[in-house]
Amino acid sequence: MAERKQEFMERKKRIAERDAPLKKDDLIVITGAGGFIAGNLALYFKQRGFTNIRAVDKKPLYEWYLHVPDAQNLSLDVSQERNCQRACEGAVEVYNLAADMGGMGFIERFRVECLRSVLINTHMIEAACQAGARRYFFSSSACAYNTLLQKDPKVRALKESDAYPAMAERGYGWEKLISEMFCEEYWHERGLKTAIARFHNVYGPHGTWDGGREKAPAALCRKVIEAIDTGKKQISLWGNGEQTRSFMFIADCVKGIDKIMHSDDLIATPINLGSSEMVSINELLSKIETIAGVKMKRKYDLNAPQGVAGRNSDNAFIKQVLTWEPDTKLDKGLAETYAWIKEQYARRKAGKRVGVG
Ligand code: NAD
Repeated sequence: MAERKQEFMERKKRIAERDAPLKKDDLIVITGAGGFIAGNLALYFKQRGFTNIRAVDKKPLYEWYLHVPDAQNLSLDVSQERNCQRACEGAVEVYNLAADMGGMGFIERFRVECLRSVLINTHMIEAACQAGARRYFFSSSACAYNTLLQKDPKVRALKESDAYPAMAERGYGWEKLISEMFCEEYWHERGLKTAIARFHNVYGPHGTWDGGREKAPAALCRKVIEAIDTGKKQISLWGNGEQTRSFMFIADCVKGIDKIMHSDDLIATPINLGSSEMVSINELLSKIETIAGVKMKRKYDLNAPQGVAGRNSDNAFIKQVLTWEPDTKLDKGLAETYAWIKEQYARRKAGKRVGVG
């Protein structure tokens, strides 16, 4: 009984106390770091002078997109409880971005794999809490939003309250919703300061660009590069090209994660992290064609996975709380992404090793 009372008092103390600023040698744990966003996040912290970064991914190290110099890189499957405990040992902050995921082609086809990410998120948050981590970040998704609100390409932008009543993307979206709820309840019941960002389509260098898990911007850049290389001059698009989306550049994404994680106004509060510059897939391809200096013949595959008809991020809340929003123009971000994929494509063609997915 006395033990429980002490535990309760400890928890109350933790809820009330304000964090000391993160010290440069405090241990930051980042899962999914062999992948796109978490790899770039590890690099972001490294470039800001943080010296104690533990990067974790289930992929073997040679398949990671990025290796951050001097980081502790661990190849661990964090769907297993013991590995989560190992990953979180001594952590001051935990950024959990590991997930079995991909573009529409992947999440429509592999719903069980997407749902099973709940194991990662269940064990990681418990391990972070047990390890006494000060803050815990969870990467949620715009796929958590009610799909019934996204049936029109001229959709109104989605605001945070649009997740409920719930009718999320089957598999992937529902898993994100339940894992968000873990974050909310670990704060309310156990005093773990959690941050929840709903990412809207992230793109940029060091992401998946081939292999079936890539998203539209990378897939279209690759298809254009391939068409130029093979002299085919024809591109196949999924759907009729009228679907709309917004795309956030990776530099905005990692900056936003940092801001959201360290805002006391956003503890256990889901928030959009996305661009509000909405384009159709046809417009996206036109932008890539302009960058590449070509014009392709378009073939529409109406049987391919397409996802919702329209989706955009309502940024009123993030602007209000952080006086900031992701603002890299699509033209600029795409030019950087195209150049990186072109280089990767050439490397692969030359028989050199590249990470694709
Ligand atoms: P990614 O596939 O490039 O990276 C995810 C990484 O997690 C991969 O390297 C994978 O190997 C790793 N992983 C999967 N299962 C694991 C396990 N059991 N143990 C350890 N590592 C494991 O994906 P990303 O685009 O970088 O996405 C990162 C996070 O952001 C995910 O949670 C994703 O759902 C979320 N998100 C991404 C986008 C986007 O547009 N990229 C949009 C919304 C949400």
